Amino acid sequence: MSGIRAINLNKIYSNGVQAVKDFNIEIADGQFIALVGPSGCGKSTFLRMIAGLESITEGELFIGDRKVNDIGPSERNIAMVFQNHALYPTMTVYDNMALGLEMQKVPKKIIREKIYNVAEMLGIIDLLDRKPGQMSGGQCQRAAIGRAIVKEPEAFLLDEPLSNLDAALRDQMRLELINLHKKLGTTFIYVTHDQVEAMTMADQIVVMDKGVIMQRGAPMDVYAHPHNKFTAGFIGTPQINFLPCVIECHAGSYEAKIADFTLPFDGNQYDMAALTKAAENGLPLTLGIRPEHMSITPKGIEAAVEYVELTGGEAYLHLNVSGMQIVVKAPAKEYPQHVCIALEINKIYLFDTESGQSFERG
Ligand code: ADP
Repeated sequence: MSGIRAINLNKIYSNGVQAVKDFNIEIADGQFIALVGPSGCGKSTFLRMIAGLESITEGELFIGDRKVNDIGPSERNIAMVFQNHALYPTMTVYDNMALGLEMQKVPKKIIREKIYNVAEMLGIIDLLDRKPGQMSGGQCQRAAIGRAIVKEPEAFLLDEPLSNLDAALRDQMRLELINLHKKLGTTFIYVTHDQVEAMTMADQIVVMDKGVIMQRGAPMDVYAHPHNKFTAGFIGTPQINFLPCVIECHAGSYEAKIADFTLPFDGNQYDMAALTKAAENGLPLTLGIRPEHMSITPKGIEAAVEYVELTGGEAYLHLNVSGMQIVVKAPAKEYPQHVCIALEINKIYLFDTESGQSFERG
């Protein structure tokens, strides 16, 4: 088992697209880390570089203590699980699982023992004689995971392994993968565009945008303390509300002016020196407030209800506040056409609109 380390890692494809920009990241041995970001942000490229399936344009990559820049995929002892399982269609699950070990000249008896142990762990013993065409998508994905485990790899690379499954099965397999990681204790690097999947499964998430690491941390930390506007917008459902604002200082206390209303805010959580400078220079700021940090109150900021999304246990109210669209999470019930809202003042984020950087105190 091994950790993975990238130093100034870059990937530029022959068409000039830079998919990975100056990655500096250390993934500890045994960690479950999720790479998350919109489609095209470079997640798969980075994963494929670890697997040895993409060359490195610049920088260094280590698996454990071994620099692997020039080491071929078969010598890296890494297992990869793909979205489309990639099992050989003409071979049974048993033969699919055995193939890698046979190539390593592992004795037949040991191969059998290993396959049965893993198949038992995954509950797929009764599938061993089947071919991929005779199984459901979920069963194929379990078999593909089984094939990865029998290799006893130093790390597992999982590229959107659940995205072809239906919602119920995806939930179930998420839990199975979490338990599997606990049982094996091997490094898992998991790629997904689904932030809920990343948040619920991984010990650490790496948020990426346009080939750049925007933030890395424990899921709840990243949610509570986004370093930039991109991360704040990507993590959390429904999405955080962004409102343009300016900051004003009156007799030592600060206020955020948003459209035609003003909010006092608690200065403790911000880098006030930087914020004061931004205010003095008239820098355009963006205020971020999550739908769960606002509520419907008898008095407050007036809002017109445009529509109510009922999800069962709760409602997402889509509101128009002085021409701005705001979503508020509230109990599921009937609402009048006009409501008042209040914001939790200490849950407000402020970002530099141009650079996207947060003003939260580090
Ligand atoms: P993600 O996994 O986050 O969706 P990818 O790593 O697949 O992103 O792609 C990152 C960027 O690199 C995209 O702009 C994509 O079009 C580009 N890209 C991916 N593979 C290749 C390739 N083989 N040749 C050229 N460009 C590529």
